[in-house]
Formats: sequence, C-alpha cells, structure tokens
Amino acid sequence: MSKNKKRIAIIGAGFTGLISAYFYKIKGYKVDIFETSKNIGGITDDIFFDNQNFFSGCHQLISSDWLKKINKKNELKLKTFKVHYGNYTEEKKSLNFDWTYPVPTFDKGFVVKKITRKINSLDNRLDVYPKSISSFLKKWINQKDKTINLKNLDHKSANGFALTKIAIKKNLKEIVKLKKNNKSFNELYAIKNFLNNKNQQQCLIPKNGYTDFFKTLRELLIKNRIKFFLRSPVKPVWIKNKLYIVLRGKKMDYNKILWTGNPVSLIKNFGYQKLDSKYTNVKITCGSLKNKINNCFFIQVYSLETSISRIYIYKIKNEVKFTIENYYNSKEEDIILKTKEILSKFRINFDIKDNSHEHQIKRYSLISIKDNMIISKFLKKTKKTNLVYYDWRIYGRDQRINSVIKNIK
Ligand SMILES: Cc1cc2nc3c(=O)[nH]c(=O)nc-3n(C[C@H](O)[C@H](O)[C@H](O)COP(=O)(O)OP(=O)(O)OC[C@H]3O[C@@H](n4cnc5c(N)ncnc54)[C@H](O)[C@@H]3O)c2cc1C
Repeated sequence: MSKNKKRIAIIGAGFTGLISAYFYKIKGYKVDIFETSKNIGGITDDIFFDNQNFFSGCHQLISSDWLKKINKKNELKLKTFKVHYGNYTEEKKSLNFDWTYPVPTFDKGFVVKKITRKINSLDNRLDVYPKSISSFLKKWINQKDKTINLKNLDHKSANGFALTKIAIKKNLKEIVKLKKNNKSFNELYAIKNFLNNKNQQQCLIPKNGYTDFFKTLRELLIKNRIKFFLRSPVKPVWIKNKLYIVLRGKKMDYNKILWTGNPVSLIKNFGYQKLDSKYTNVKITCGSLKNKINNCFFIQVYSLETSISRIYIYKIKNEVKFTIENYYNSKEEDIILKTKEILSKFRINFDIKDNSHEHQIKRYSLISIKDNMIISKFLKKTKKTNLVYYDWRIYGRDQRINSVIKNIK
C-alpha cells in the first residue's frame, strides 16, 4: 500500500494529538481526529468568565523544532516574552524566596547524601535528600492530599508536584562534584542557574490566548485536509491483536491509531487490570490586574502555610492576567490575600482589576507503581500492532510531542 493511502485515527485533540496530526499529514497519511469535547485543546484550552479568557494553568511554549515547522510565518499569533522563574519555599522556621529556580530551594548548609540505592517510589526518591528536607517535602505533599501514599507512587510522580529537582544554595562545590560523578544525583539537584545567574527564559505565549491559538491551528489543519470529529468519544476494541475504534456503535478500521486521550479503557479492553489513575484536585483562581508588565512571572510555592502551589502572571489581548493554582483538598483560605503577601516579597504589586474567578480541575499527573508496571507491559505487548507507540507517563508537552514525531514512519 502506498504511503498516501495509509489512514491514521488520532484520539484526542489536545496538544499532542493536534501537533502529531500535522506531522502525520506531511508524511503522507490521511488523518482523522476524534475528540470527546465540542472544543479542542484539551487541558491547555483557556477558561472563560464574563467573556474573558484566562490560562487554565501555567502554560507557555518554547521555540521547539516542531513549533518552528508548524508556525513558519507566525500564523499561530505567538508573542515572545521573558518569563522570570522563582520559588517561595517556606518551612516553619525559614523562608526562602528568589528568582533562581521554580523548585524547592534551601539556603542552609546541609550534609549532602550520596545516592546508594535504586530509586523506584516517590518516597525513596525524596529520602535521597537531607532528612529535614525530605520530611518537609513529604509533609507538604500530604498536606495537599492526606490519602496519598508516597510508597505507592512511582518516582516519576515528582513531576506532578514540581519536585523534579531541589536546589541548595550552600555546599555548591560539593554538589557540582557529586553531579559530575553521579547521574542520579545530577537529576535530583539543580545548580546551573546559581552558576550562570540565569533565572529567565524566552517563551512564546499566544497573543490572544490558547482558545484562539487552537482555533487558528484547527483552520490550518483543515486546510491540510485533516478531518475533525468533535463531540465524538470513541471506544477501543481489540480483536486478535488489532485495535479498532467504535463511535456511536460503528466499528472503524485504521492502519494506525494514535491514542493520546485517557488510556484507561484502551488498556482494560486489551485485558489488563484497570489503572489506578491517580490525580490531584487543583483549584484555579484567575483574573485581571491593573499592573503594567512587559515580562511574565512564574513562581512555584512550597509552603506548609498555604495551599497555593503556583502563581503565574502573563499578558494576553494586551491585558495583564493571573492564574493561581492551589490544592483544594486543603483548608479554606483567602487565596488572593496570600498571593498578595507572597508577591510583595518579590516586589510585585498584585492589584486586581475586577473580581477573581474560580475553577476546579482534576490533574492526572501522578503515576502509581502499579500503573507504571501495567503501562510498561502494555506498551511492550502492543509494539507490533496498529496502535502507535505513545507513553502517557511522559510529563512534558514537548517530550510527548517529540516522542510521537520521531517515530513517524
Ligand atoms: C497512569 C495514567 C492514568 C491516567 N488516567 C486518566 C483518567 O482516568 N482520566 C483522564 O482524563 N486522564 C487520565 N490520564 C491522563 C491522560 O492520559 C493525559 O491527560 C493525556 O494523555 C494527555 O494528552 P494531551 O497531552 O494531548 O493532553 P490533553 O489536553 O489531555 O488531550 C487529550 C484529549 O483527548 C480527549 N479524549 C480523551 N479520551 C477520548 C476518547 N475516548 N475519545 C475522544 N477524545 C478523547 C480529551 O477530551 C482531550 O481533549 C492518565 C495518565 C496516566 C499516565
């Protein structure tokens, strides 16, 4: 069969599905996209209040190869901003806040431990850090959700809590040496920004927000003769090691299927156990500011005194807006007041224009040890089928997209 006759169904019109569609098309595939919702964009789509749009999380793009290829003449209306990254790390007796890293940062002198054992759970990943740091971080996670058992979570779940690395401002020489000599150590400690004094990155943000970005992207894909099926939740059916999709009772056959959506039914129908699907409950508080800014600000918060985890200040439609994330399992608090207090340390005014708005979401960013094993087995067993290899455990958007693009044959 010649390449241009090959048909691929892409399940899910989130970032990964949409971008992959473009790259399959230019490789000669006939592409159909199926999406449950009436909108596209998935978790990155904006949220709307009183006809105003706000970011649904701290989303920003970097100038990656896939973006340069798809956005040659800035058809997607992106604007470059400097994003300043900071952290606010508040333990009982000490407070660290600075523009170095969006990771927990400590300025005490610690005896840094060497890594001698294999890391598999999030619990033993955190145990690698000096005792007082690991107990602080464990307490911090359990404050968000008491039901979380760190021993049952895979160590990759560190991504979901923005705990991929920590930074220690002292003992720099010793840390540099350990990072050079030990790969695991290198992955657990951040140090580069202290050495080169860098705390900002050039990022791209859609001028009018993500909903407009996805609308333009959809038009571009339709121009490339990619077909969209919205309001179309598809079901998977495995028959003799081949995957079919079923939409409203109709079974459909494709040469390839890329399943970027929720993998639970796909894996269960193959005959494996149901996934645990661990998630966190996140509340988004957003609104507009009176401030004038030219750059964006992104602060990760690690504190036992507040449920706030992220503060993002950005500009769309020439208006300065904010999106704050907090874990809503925790006690009620005045999010705006606490944000004001945190930002005052960074000398940023937080002067709200009208009212703020609230929105609750589930974030499927945690992986249990059991799910990690099931997905590994499933991906191995389905390697030679018509299901395109796609690993839902990958956290970063760019890594997800690149993992699909590099395997297009
Ligand atoms: C172990 C594990 C368990 C998970 N369990 C769940 C879960 O139970 N529920 C969940 O929502 N996510 C779950 N996820 C997360 C989900 O896999 C990711 O959110 C998704 O793969 C990310 O795709 P994306 O990057 O394009 O982002 P997204 O922005 O999330 O895009 C995915 C899009 O797919 C669409 N979609 C999903 N399913 C279908 C379908 N059957 N037919 C058509 N469109 C569909 C969604 O509406 C969305 O627009 C799990 C992830 C892991 C690692």
